Amino acid sequence: MRSGGTCENPSCLGHPTERTDADAPILEVDHVNDLGRGGQDTPETMIALCPNCHALKTRGRNRHQLKASLLSLARVRHQTFLDSLS
Ligand SMILES: [Zn+2]
Repeated sequence: MRSGGTCENPSCLGHPTERTDADAPILEVDHVNDLGRGGQDTPETMIALCPNCHALKTRGRNRHQLKASLLSLARVRHQTFLDSLS
């Protein structure tokens, strides 16, 4: 819901426009801090990424910088989303 169906990475170079069979956007919800390494399973530490950005965040050479940026962004976007509900 928070992503509005688009990649939340502000430096995304292109979210695929193709949709799933269920007519949903192709997004992967990422735990910015890996769950398997003690990351939290909470919305303010999760972010919706397109497959390209998810690959960059997971395997890209600059993944550590991107991870820090996305974690900060997820917190801000989550608070903004909560504020919009009230
Ligand atoms: Zn993206």
